[in-house]
Amino acid sequence: MHRDVKPARPHVSYGWTAFVLAVGLWGMGAPVPRPPVAGVDGWTQRTWVVMGTYLTVRVRHADSAYAERILDGVIDLVQDLDRRLTLYDPSSELWALNRQAGGPPLPVSEPLWDLLERALAYSRETQGAFDVTIGPIVQTWGFLEGPRRVPSDEAIARARARVGYTKVELDPSRRTVRLTTPGMVLDFGGIAKGYALDRAVELLQQAGLRDALLNFGGEIYAMGTPDGGDRPWTLAVRHPRRPDRVWREFPVRDMAVSTSGDYERFFFQGGRRYSHILSPWTGRPVETDVVSVTVVAPSATEADALSTALFVMGPERAQTLVGADRCRYVLWIRQQGQHLIEDPRSVWPPRPCPSQGSRPSRTPKSNDPSPDIRPQ
Ligand code: ADP
Ligand code: MG
Repeated sequence: MHRDVKPARPHVSYGWTAFVLAVGLWGMGAPVPRPPVAGVDGWTQRTWVVMGTYLTVRVRHADSAYAERILDGVIDLVQDLDRRLTLYDPSSELWALNRQAGGPPLPVSEPLWDLLERALAYSRETQGAFDVTIGPIVQTWGFLEGPRRVPSDEAIARARARVGYTKVELDPSRRTVRLTTPGMVLDFGGIAKGYALDRAVELLQQAGLRDALLNFGGEIYAMGTPDGGDRPWTLAVRHPRRPDRVWREFPVRDMAVSTSGDYERFFFQGGRRYSHILSPWTGRPVETDVVSVTVVAPSATEADALSTALFVMGPERAQTLVGADRCRYVLWIRQQGQHLIEDPRSVWPPRPCPSQGSRPSRTPKSNDPSPDIRPQ
């Protein structure tokens, strides 16, 4: 099938490679949701369209009817998050919160509170490279509703004045949130899929499932093993410029994988490529020779937020945020002339982490020691 890919390792590698390639096929209009493939080695799989992308969950359990019920629970949970967090529906909870910007505090639901706390912790840890208040800049560039365009300098300046994670005030005793500046817009696009995955993984674990593979628009969580044995999942980083090809395979167990790149969503204008990851510091799409950054971490929330942040920061400034000691692995792929290369500052391949295995680790909620990063 794909000649440049190493011959498939039975049970493990092939299954995943097919999975990765299938994402492209769904994009071309294959019917969704797909029928479950129950009964094959105890695996049950379903795919849904939610949060504007595909969520595929594959679980292993001898009783496929039980597995189906659990999967119903997964989609209920993710759809509930989607309804709260969408920026496309004026009746969503997030819409109400954003509308309140510049006004008094608003009480929020537990999931929105929990996610916002985590998002702000990553904003602090990355000194704002990841910034959940990026919404006005995303809107100005037309990445939210279109049309995508290069805005004027004035429009960028106006948007930037409404961005900044320190402009969000939380009152834990009342669980209220205040957006201090009129026109602020929280945007969870860089973290919500990861968060939804962690919640889904918790649900699967509570239901007694040990082995599962979850893919949410490219955010992955690999639970347990493919066959209940000792060998971990083998996942693959896609070739950033040739989606049908595998760049590199790697083993992973009870960890999450997230890739941010310049190729997921972008537009061309005047011969230049503008990506949907924006620098909160410049108000413009990140300009970098980094083509993609893949992060492996114990939780999907962490992997998702960090891959976005690292793309903004680049390999030099991001070094203090990653490392095997923190169980954060990173693969940088950069453009060098006509070629793609792996940056030597990659921390790769990922290794098993001592504390993992029971549940996705919780994000630190307090201030983490911050690296030395300065605005561009
Ligand atoms: P993808 O959605 O393709 O998986 P990411 O996880 O990197 O990619 O998220 C990109 C989205 O995150 C953008 O569409 C936007 O909504 C939001 N975003 C863009 N730049 C930032 C940033 N610097 N900090 C936080 N969120 C961002
Ligand atoms: Mg992300």
